[in-house]
Amino acid sequence: MDPRVTPIVFSLPLRDRFRGITHREGVLLEGPSGWGEFAPFLEYDDAEAVPWWSAAHEAARLGWPDPVRDHVPVNCIVPAVTPERAAEIVRASGCRTAKVKVAEQGQDLADDLARVAAVREALGPDGRIRVDANGGWGATEAFVAVLALDDEVGLEYVEQPCMRVEDLARVRRETGVLVAADESIRKADDPYRVAELEAADIAVLKVAPLGGVRACLTIAEQIGLPIVVSSAVDSSVGLAAGLALAAALPELPYACGLGTQALLEADVVADVLAPVDGMLAMRRPPIDPELLEGVRADEERTAWWLDRLARVEALAGGPA
Ligand SMILES: [Mg+2]
Repeated sequence: MDPRVTPIVFSLPLRDRFRGITHREGVLLEGPSGWGEFAPFLEYDDAEAVPWWSAAHEAARLGWPDPVRDHVPVNCIVPAVTPERAAEIVRASGCRTAKVKVAEQGQDLADDLARVAAVREALGPDGRIRVDANGGWGATEAFVAVLALDDEVGLEYVEQPCMRVEDLARVRRETGVLVAADESIRKADDPYRVAELEAADIAVLKVAPLGGVRACLTIAEQIGLPIVVSSAVDSSVGLAAGLALAAALPELPYACGLGTQALLEADVVADVLAPVDGMLAMRRPPIDPELLEGVRADEERTAWWLDRLARVEALAGGPA
């Protein structure tokens, strides 16, 4: 990053509680190629945050490979909300594919069934529904839940039903529902194990936790599975990197999980990366200084993030 430019810490309010948080915080870094976003989740330690720094560094200093398409289909994202709110989110999105959060702590299968049913109602019979359990089920529980959800609405696929790769393989074999691996790739020492154990039909790739667009293109080439590019609830600056990856992949058979801008109540660009009729047009919108000013984190959070950034930067080999 350009050492003359001070990193900016932001705090974006979310419309609905997501992953247990109400604000998405991170740091924006400017370099010769534009802005990069460094926003590892709060619970990640410094080592786990290094790939996020690499992705921000790539965005700010190197830019991204050329796109092969100019539009990317995306799904809308439905957090663990009430059925009424779920239907509202789907209708407002204009997307033909919805990803619904299931297996939320403190909720049960009846909540998930009611939520997906409301989503089906809002989408109509030809829309696609995928669910994401974030590894929240055990293998037996997943077997029961996946079959019930599939029976209720017909699933396009289930994302990360269990944490263990062996359990993913079992759910895949025993339910016949397609399985997508997310945490098993981005939090694993060996992202290729899911392919070796035939544990997934689809690989979910996220630019920041996997170290950048180029790193993801390499994984896509080697893993031999169809790719769904997803965001990590990024601002439009982070989303632009996901969009660059989705636009650069040789094949893109599924809608991508890049419709997450709608989760944010505020953003740092005016031309937000939100889909129109379920499609995101390829672009990299510029930062809006006034909007950025409005979402700056307070002094305490700014200090916390700048300290974290410095530690991770040091681990990663120092500022470029
Ligand atoms: Mg996921």
